[in-house]
Amino acid sequence: MNLAHLLERIARQDADRPAIHLGTQVHATHGQWAARAAACAMRLRQSGLQPGDRVVLFMRNHPRYLELMWGAWWAGLVVVPVNAKLHLREVAWIMDHARAQRMFVTRDVVPEGSTDLPASVVVTDVDSPAADALLATGDGALPPVAYRAPDDIAWLFYTSGTTGRPKGVMLTHRNLMTMGLTYFNDVDAVDAGDAIVYAAPMSHGAGIYAIPHLMAGARHVVPASGGVEPDELFALGQALGPLSMFAAPTIVKRIVDHAEFMGLSPAQSTASFKTIVYGGAPMYAADIQRAIQVMGPRFVQIYGQGESPMVGTALSRQDLADTAHPRHAQRLASVGVAQTPVQIRVSDEQGRPLPTGEVGEVLIRGDSVMAGYWDNPDATAAAVRDGWLFTGDMGALDADGYLTLKDRSKDLIISGGSNIYPREVEEVLLTAPGVAEAAVVGAPDPEWGEVVVAFVVPQPGVALDPLALDALCLAQIARFKRPKRYEVVTSLPKNNYGKVLKTELRRRLQPVA
Ligand code: AMP
Repeated sequence: MNLAHLLERIARQDADRPAIHLGTQVHATHGQWAARAAACAMRLRQSGLQPGDRVVLFMRNHPRYLELMWGAWWAGLVVVPVNAKLHLREVAWIMDHARAQRMFVTRDVVPEGSTDLPASVVVTDVDSPAADALLATGDGALPPVAYRAPDDIAWLFYTSGTTGRPKGVMLTHRNLMTMGLTYFNDVDAVDAGDAIVYAAPMSHGAGIYAIPHLMAGARHVVPASGGVEPDELFALGQALGPLSMFAAPTIVKRIVDHAEFMGLSPAQSTASFKTIVYGGAPMYAADIQRAIQVMGPRFVQIYGQGESPMVGTALSRQDLADTAHPRHAQRLASVGVAQTPVQIRVSDEQGRPLPTGEVGEVLIRGDSVMAGYWDNPDATAAAVRDGWLFTGDMGALDADGYLTLKDRSKDLIISGGSNIYPREVEEVLLTAPGVAEAAVVGAPDPEWGEVVVAFVVPQPGVALDPLALDALCLAQIARFKRPKRYEVVTSLPKNNYGKVLKTELRRRLQPVA
């Protein structure tokens, strides 16, 4: 089993049909994509890489993302997608941990001559002649797809951890194949005339949605801007046919605001968008209702996490649109029902199932659940027990099997769909001169869902300067993780054991009713 077989199969069947677009321009047909992936596989192997070796993609969205990802799989290599917003220090840590020797970058994320990355790593700019040469086709027989067992790793996805250090989620070919096939039953039907647009980062869920779209022989569109410009997305849909995409609630909101501001009718939205899948962070019921009103019934919600990527529950287009249903309001506030290949359980701390309606930790079991964390057996043993993935999310199931999330048992902050673990930020703040204590929490925010707020206690007699703290964060961690606001306080609320009461800090940040 190898995800590269999906590309080989479509290329045989439909070589000349456009497969990858950059904006409205065709970047590759299925045949060209397969040939470039095979050529890339051959050269990566010639450079000494062996099946199972790791290749890092540290890039903004780019059509070559897809060519390199499938090129690596064709050679039997493991793709390590790295969030383009990470600080180079964070990336260097991941490379070292994954023991990766090869890396592909776009110049906006790693400037020419940067010395922040380990010297032992071969770094290739994907827009350089070296990348052209790697992907060049036409010189002889290309290698067959490398054999991979279903449990071999395909995608080593680093997520931030509660301990402050990222953990490498090992996703196998079977995990991703399962995710791809499930899309058709739980999310949307896809045919060869369809197109998916990558507005959200391809290093995350949006990127692996390439798999079901490749299975169906659909087109893949990378916006020329590389990101989310609502104007551009509407225009691309007009030009190429209605697009499907995955987006975090913050992005969905931006697109809906644009449609409303421009006075676009639902019919105009229909011309540009087929399906918008949202997830990755909570979306308020009022926001999704407005989205459907403005853009029509084209939304599907999914709930999952890196450890069971895009596969947990789904709230279907029909459920979202069925306003006559007596439990429509509850369903709108839920994340839907278990996706086809998994079971969902709400459990107590020992993993024992709780009765309907009771709140407990959400567990997921099935073929989409990761093989474990890379080089981290303790974290793996804590996260996956008897095949059940302990998600750290708290929720309740109703009698019809709909899951409603209530809270997170971890301290995770989700801002604009990006995860931020407070510990990572606190560790930086605690190195600042004059800071005695620091506690970081998320505050509700209408645009971002949550924003990062830091409570800092100065050492006696010190006047803390938020600008200096901000500069320190900028130097050490990704920009999106740094606090948007500092609250300088004389002490932090603590329990009898001296543990900071984050719930109390969060309560202080609730909007006053
Ligand atoms: P990640 O591992 O980055 O995909 O983040 C996963 C986390 O995002 C989950 O554990 C949830 O806390 C949250 N999440 C994912 N999907 C949803 C959703 N549809 N609604 C609310 N929270 C979500």
